[in-house]
This record gives sequence, structure tokens and C-alpha cells, in this order.
Amino acid sequence: MMYNLLEQPWLSVIYNNGVAARISLIEALSKAHQLQIAYPNPMDRIAVFRFILAMSLWCKQKTGDPIKDRIPPRWFSYLADQKPMFELYGDDKRFMQSRGLIRLRPVTELFHEVPTGNNAWHFHHSRDYGDGVCLHCIVNGILRLPVFSVSGLPDLKSGINGSPPIYCVNWPDNLLEALIQNWPSEANLGAPNWVYQYQFSPSDSVPLLAGLTVPARLLFLNDPVESKEACSACGEKPGHLVYSCLYESAGILENQSWKDPFAVYKDDRALKASNIVGTGKLAFDMRYRGLLSTILKDMSFEQSRSILIVGFAVDKAKYVDIWEKTLQIEPLAINPEILEILEHWNDSVKFTLNHKSLNRFKNFKASLASDLGPQTEAIFYKKLKAALRSNGLVWDDLSDSNQLATRIISKAMLPGISSKLSHERFFIRSSIPKVQQSKQKKGGNADEQQS
Ligand SMILES: [Zn+2]
Repeated sequence: MMYNLLEQPWLSVIYNNGVAARISLIEALSKAHQLQIAYPNPMDRIAVFRFILAMSLWCKQKTGDPIKDRIPPRWFSYLADQKPMFELYGDDKRFMQSRGLIRLRPVTELFHEVPTGNNAWHFHHSRDYGDGVCLHCIVNGILRLPVFSVSGLPDLKSGINGSPPIYCVNWPDNLLEALIQNWPSEANLGAPNWVYQYQFSPSDSVPLLAGLTVPARLLFLNDPVESKEACSACGEKPGHLVYSCLYESAGILENQSWKDPFAVYKDDRALKASNIVGTGKLAFDMRYRGLLSTILKDMSFEQSRSILIVGFAVDKAKYVDIWEKTLQIEPLAINPEILEILEHWNDSVKFTLNHKSLNRFKNFKASLASDLGPQTEAIFYKKLKAALRSNGLVWDDLSDSNQLATRIISKAMLPGISSKLSHERFFIRSSIPKVQQSKQKKGGNADEQQS
């Protein structure tokens, strides 16, 4: 059994003309100007792109040829010579795998969205060892290991970034441009994990390629088995599926001196997605708004740019949510004052509902606000996207998106026809987020600080 990452068609892409395909890594690199990586799960977009970027940095390091309007031809001849490093199977060194492991696990454990265990009460049913995954999908699962692993029993640990941070990458229309826009300026590259096994301690300074490619699990794949069943991850029926693997902790990798080129940091701390189920705030609680000022502060660009922000919310070892936002940003639209307001948006919205006549509806108010949250968020997001693309961020425009909530709350909570009630209703309906008050409150609310 052989399966080579350079040649097998595991990589999902979409061409500029809208045609989707699964192609090999070599084909994707040779047509990088005509296609973009395409996966429904944003985890795969981040993980696969990160792998291709690491691979490109490595090719540049070895050949000396930089990317221009195409991937340099010498990268392909170099990769052809390195082919044995990218084998998933065989008796020699295998790609991102280790020998001598003993802990047997279902291979579906590589996929966050496929539930483990034999619990029938999931929306997506799966049985450990009874449901398999095709080889193409397995590659994507392996590539998630450096980026989206969390701690758990028995002794599993998160990856080099600790509990997965919020990731942000430049996400233009094609892969070639994405490599150029995300190319880090770091000088100390070192070697990727497929060349040398990672051997840094948590206090070491880690070279870029080692840090980008170190998986948070030691893995050894068992052979695929003939099967008529569908792959648990993609639903295709390739005739062979892998059911199990050996899967163990890679030890403590979290490293305080490591700065991930994709993670969003604020005051030197990586920001994490908050647990939207635990806080009960649902769509209101995606932290991308407050991140914009942090993200844009570090970005200097003259042309319009598209960024992809991905937050993976976890509750200890449990996976809670994965969210994504793609924003097109025009440099002229960035106004530092508005970005600061966005940072305190959640507080500001809370203050719009602070009218004293609503005090007696405390619980009802909270539940109504969370019910209306997703719609308000959708309107807000649409306006924010338009603002960042064209005419600059205008505060009134954005704060108006809160009107859906204030209008419904004023009607639902203050029924009746007296002139006092009608006056209060009008006041609530027309109230807009109060930035002044939220700014006085030091450092935003407790939830924004938590990370
Ligand atoms: Zn599959």
C-alpha cells in the first residue's frame, strides 16, 4: 500500500471559473494562480493552507527561488526528489507518523465533526471502528493536528499554540496570491516535521518551519480495508477505508516564546474563541468585531484585501463551535476611532437596553436579547462588510442594525396606550448603542477579557 501526498488527489479546490475538484498537491501548486483551497469546514482551509505555506517556505529555503507570478519550476524538481518523505504508508519513514505506538483508536478521532463513541444520539451517527474514512480525507485530518488539537484524557495535550487560538489569514481569490500575502518575514526557518522529528522543549525558541508543522499527536495509520461503505468525512465510496490508527500524546508542546504567524495576539496573549454555548450569547459572542482593531493594526497594505478569521470554541476537551468570517477590507475605510468602538460593541449594545422602565423585565429582556441576537448580528455583519469594502465605517449605519432588537423589545415589553408608556416605547425604540458609557467602563466586559 502506497499513498503519496504529492501525487494523490486529496486537496479540495475551486477554480476561478467556479469548478470544484479534488487534485494533487503538485497540480494545485502548478495551477496556484487559477484556484483557491475550498473546504466547507474552515478548519481544513486553515490547516491545509498552513501546510502548503510551510511547504513553500521549505522549497524557497532549499532552492533559493522566490514566488513571482508562478510557483518557481525548480520547486517541482526539488519536490520530485523528496517524494519518499510524503508517503502515508510503507516500511520507511511515513509522513507525520511515528512507530512504536500502542494506543489503538478509531481513525475518526482525527475529525472534530465526527463524534466518537458509539452513542446513537448524535445528529451525525458514527460507530468507533465501524465507520471508516477514505485516504484523501485522512490527509486533511492529519494536517489539523498541529492547529486544532485540545487537551483531553488520558494524557493528550494541545498543540504548540495551547488551546487553539483565533486564526486569521489573508484570503485572496487564488492560492498563489495567498502564499504571497501571507509570506512571513521570519529569518530562522529550521526544518519542517517531515524532515526532522520535533525536539524542542516548551521554553526553547522554535524555528518557524518546526513550529508550523509539529503535530499535537503521535500517529500511526493502520492499513485501509476493502469496504463498500461511505467515508465518514466526505461521503464518497472509494472502495477502501481506514478504520483505526495508533494515536498518542506528543507531550507538552505549548510554547510561550512561540508566536504563530496565523494566530491573533493582543498584548502578547493569543486570543481564543469564547464558548458561545456556555455564555448563552450565541451569535453575539463571536469575537471578530473586537479583533478587527488588533488585526488591522499589524497589517499595512495599500490594496483592498480579504481576510479569513476562524474561531474554534472549546470547553476543555469538548468541541463547542467553529465559526468563520471573511471580510474584504479597503485600507481607506479603516478609521481608528470606529475600530475602537467595534472593540466595545457588545458593551454598547447592552447599554441600549438599560432604560429604567425595562428593569422589571430582567429575565425576559435577557432571553429576548439572545433570541434576537442572531438576526441583529446578521444585519450588523452585512453592514460592516459593506462599510469595510467601500465608504468607510460610519457609526450611525452600524448602530442602526441594533434597531431590530430595540423595536421588538419596546413593543413586547411595554404594551398599552398611556402617553407615558408610548413615550418610553419611543425612547427605547430609537435608542442607539451608547459608546460613551461603554468607553468609560475599563477594559470592556469580563467576557471580552477572558481568553
Ligand atoms: Zn473521505
